[in-house]
Amino acid sequence: MAMSTEEDKTETYPNKDKEKPLCSCVTDPFTSLPPGLRPRNRSFMDDLRKVICPGCGLVYWTNRKTDFCAECEKNTARNAAG
Ligand SMILES: [Zn+2]
Repeated sequence: MAMSTEEDKTETYPNKDKEKPLCSCVTDPFTSLPPGLRPRNRSFMDDLRKVICPGCGLVYWTNRKTDFCAECEKNTARNAAG
């Protein structure tokens, strides 16, 4: 039979309503996407990367474009300014 079993679909996730008071289409617009294509929840860790400061060799984590640490960035800015 090609009959649709909509009732079965609604009961596939019996716990979802308890966890999410709102419809999933509201809380998770990417619910139809495969997990690999879903954007992860944004967190500050996503932007962080481990870098080694070219100036002083300091190993640290940053979310900025430059690899220079704050100290060396100040120094290079000062030097660049003349
Ligand atoms: Zn540095």
